[in-house]
Amino acid sequence: MAIGGVGVGGALTVMRVAEPIYWKMPERWDLEADVVVAGFGVAGASAAIEAAENKVSVMVLDKSPTPGGNSVMSGGNMGVINSSVQRERGLLMEPAAWGRSVVRVMKETHWEQIFPTERDMKYIENSGKEVGDWLRNFGIEYEFVIPTLLRNKGGGPALVSALQKAARERGVRVETEFKVIQLVARPDTNAVLGVVGEKGGSRLFVKARRGVVLSTGPFSANKEMLKLYSPIGYRALPITAAISTGEGLIMAQALGAAVANLHHISGFPAIPKVNARFRPQGISAIFVNEKGYRFVNEAEHFEILNDKIFYQPGHHAWLVTDSEQLKKSTGKGISTTLSEDLTREVEQGVVYRAPSLEALADAIKIDRSSFLRTVRTWNEWAKATKVDPDFGRVDSPTFTFSPIESPPFYAVELVPSISGTNGGLLADGESRVLSVHGKPIPRLYAAGDIVAGGMISHLGEAIFFGRIAGRNVSKEQPWS
Ligand SMILES: Cc1cc2nc3c(=O)[nH]c(=O)nc-3n(C[C@H](O)[C@H](O)[C@H](O)COP(=O)(O)OP(=O)(O)OC[C@H]3O[C@@H](n4cnc5c(N)ncnc54)[C@H](O)[C@@H]3O)c2cc1C
Repeated sequence: MAIGGVGVGGALTVMRVAEPIYWKMPERWDLEADVVVAGFGVAGASAAIEAAENKVSVMVLDKSPTPGGNSVMSGGNMGVINSSVQRERGLLMEPAAWGRSVVRVMKETHWEQIFPTERDMKYIENSGKEVGDWLRNFGIEYEFVIPTLLRNKGGGPALVSALQKAARERGVRVETEFKVIQLVARPDTNAVLGVVGEKGGSRLFVKARRGVVLSTGPFSANKEMLKLYSPIGYRALPITAAISTGEGLIMAQALGAAVANLHHISGFPAIPKVNARFRPQGISAIFVNEKGYRFVNEAEHFEILNDKIFYQPGHHAWLVTDSEQLKKSTGKGISTTLSEDLTREVEQGVVYRAPSLEALADAIKIDRSSFLRTVRTWNEWAKATKVDPDFGRVDSPTFTFSPIESPPFYAVELVPSISGTNGGLLADGESRVLSVHGKPIPRLYAAGDIVAGGMISHLGEAIFFGRIAGRNVSKEQPWS
């Protein structure tokens, strides 16, 4: 087999399945449908809805008793432009301009753009109608609307429940606690004929007359895959659904699917021990590394901060602020889950407090003299131009630019977290899974975090390409 079951160094087993592909025609099929969808998060639910609307029979198999994976954990923030709700408010966005800002984040985080026009611009240009407007058909309402983002009321749980309900209402059969463990494929063409799953201790063969959609999510909870593919993902703090173990990716790879950007993860700077998300709200603070230096514009995109923190010595950084700032913005200015005066976190050892900058440097074991120089320089800028010539930070409402000089001083450790994996299967703009030879693998489609993508919008792309997968797979000619 390609990867599954191979012990690395005698101890590592990525997937405990004897063989990810079943290469024979099964003697019996236990279940069958025109379209089989593996995974019922937003990608799988969107695919199922679209396929069912094309009047074919659809069966969704999900290994969890309560499907929804990472989608349920999400905040419901969708990168979308020019939807009707945005248009109504005059919040228009030029697609090429948005594309440029997305490419900047891609470059800064070492993402290789594979299909810039086929996939990325297709999403950007159609996201308003095909995601923002489409979701309103299922009762989704938006509570936060800006030119490049919609956040739905109720976030991930509301989104998942609306899409899953819509799929069921369209006659989609949903099997839970049904773990897909193998793809059934023809050895001559690699065409996918169905899947093998496990349910209640039984091994069941499920025929897919038209094809299979893989939407089994990321591999962010599979430490062994992360160790092989993603140094940052391996060391990052996991804030992801435990079911995100990547079997779908392994199965498709065993069938010859190409993969891209497997190193690349999604995440945000997080505060260890309490797993809190760093979310600036009017705080003035700087980040320093163990050497006592700043290394980034702290107001940058959270994915960029996550990446930059990983590349610092020890894969971590310290947020440093002072009591004046704490009075103004409170601990909530660092993370909504921290207490206002940080007393609790100081007692827990999550936050360090010291009467002088020197004592703070010693407490967090960073280079004292360069740290003092860094803060001195920062304070000079804060009292003069409020412009940072090193990394381009300016004064802003979320991240203010004030001196750090009022004792006691505070330091909070930040580490990179992993909420999902962005690398994955190489799928084209029609959601067809491509082989290592660049050709579509017959009857195999994929969408969501299992696919390399999500850099524009994780949820948005999962829905958009999930719909495309569902539409295309339902148009395949049945093989029997
Ligand atoms: C804390 C957090 C916050 C986030 N916030 C946002 C946000 O605000 N905006 C945004 O765009 N993105 C956000 N994301 C990312 C977003 O949630 C994901 O990109 C998206 O939900 C992926 O959807 P999916 O359908 O591909 O996978 P999932 O939602 O993970 O669904 C996968 C499904 O497949 C099932 N499955 C897995 N393996 C198998 C198998 N072998 N057989 C059968 N079933 C299987 C699982 O049980 C699961 O139900 C966030 C993620 C996290 C963790």
